[in-house]
Amino acid sequence: MNPPSVVRTATAELYDAHVLKNYARPALTLVRGRGAQVWDDAGNAYLDFTSGIAVSALGHCHPHWVAAVQRQAAELIHVSNLFRTPLQGELARRLVGYAGPGRVFFCNSGGEADEALLKLARLHGVRKAGGEEGKCFKVIGAKKAFHGRMFGGMSATPQEKVQKGFRPLVPGFVFGELNNLQSFADLVDDATAAIIVESIQGDGGINPCTPEFLRGLRALCDQHNLLLLLDEVQCGIGRTGTFYAFEPAGVRPDAIAMAKGLGGGFPIGAIWVGERAADLFTPGAHGTTFGGTPLACAAGLAVLDVIENERLLENVTRLGAPWLAELKKLAADFPAHVREVRGRGFHIGFEMTGETTPWITALAEGGLLAAPAGGNVVRLLPPLNATPGELAKSVEIFRAALAAKA
Ligand SMILES: *Cc1c(COP(=O)(O)O)cnc(C)c1O
Repeated sequence: MNPPSVVRTATAELYDAHVLKNYARPALTLVRGRGAQVWDDAGNAYLDFTSGIAVSALGHCHPHWVAAVQRQAAELIHVSNLFRTPLQGELARRLVGYAGPGRVFFCNSGGEADEALLKLARLHGVRKAGGEEGKCFKVIGAKKAFHGRMFGGMSATPQEKVQKGFRPLVPGFVFGELNNLQSFADLVDDATAAIIVESIQGDGGINPCTPEFLRGLRALCDQHNLLLLLDEVQCGIGRTGTFYAFEPAGVRPDAIAMAKGLGGGFPIGAIWVGERAADLFTPGAHGTTFGGTPLACAAGLAVLDVIENERLLENVTRLGAPWLAELKKLAADFPAHVREVRGRGFHIGFEMTGETTPWITALAEGGLLAAPAGGNVVRLLPPLNATPGELAKSVEIFRAALAAKA
């Protein structure tokens, strides 16, 4: 089950010698996963509340997902978008069922989904300017946002650690203050084509848009003929207890970016575009070699099947509230270390009073894997099928880590 120690040493050495050093990785090598658990190469078990950064929505190696991917791998894996395949059509239908009337484009990652949204904004701007290019192209984003590492998304990500070294950026991005509608309204001018926000900022530190703010953005977009683009790459696909995190606000965006949880571990991204803008992408306007392969779509369909059949939205909603209440007790009991606990469902952030790295390390030593985020935030992102026992264990481990440093 576990590789011999010679393999363990080799993994560290291979990374050291051959893997690009753009990550400061902890000295942990993971070799196996089942449900909410993963094991390292020394045989230690961890409760994985990173879920691969909100990706492994069903936990690791869910039997329905594994069977669907194995079956499809033996049937048809890839043919490119020169051809139709049944599962891409079916997955698009299922996503339209969640998002509303419109159309879906498949890609392979959140970054790609965000690029597609930003290209959609450009096309909308051209239409708005009566067919003239370069007149209407500005996009208003939010401070502390994260929209991926590609040039468009990076330019929409106003964080020095993301943009440093890569200027000049794509022009036309300006930024308002999250939940301050006036700060967005003040930025609108004739050159504005769209507004993009994460319904709940993830990497920026679990900062939710209030329902009033989302409704205000919708009205602002309607008033000025702008597209409302919602980045649900992290907070979507059930993570907060509703399929999309914007649902409680009762708004309908013009387009949605998805990825992470959609494949349950298989790389897939998607955008849904509402009817108003769905005709903007005409043949040749955008494309992808890999996007929406039969194998990726089989994985996506398996995720939706399990979310529906195992009632995982209900699981997240029902277990999320009492879990959050327990986690908030930690903030109350250790105010010297925890400033605030916030979030919804299984998308939770602990704002610490200092650096997160020592906490991430201490939690891992206690058997809990958590993900860092901006603003000194430690994220807990359990799989959507986490059990009451696993959630309780996470509270116990977090409490012990806080008590040890008290
Ligand atoms: C992770 C993330 C992205 C980028 O997705 P990748 O798959 O890493 O390219 C974009 N937007 C949000 C909100 C994300 O959380």
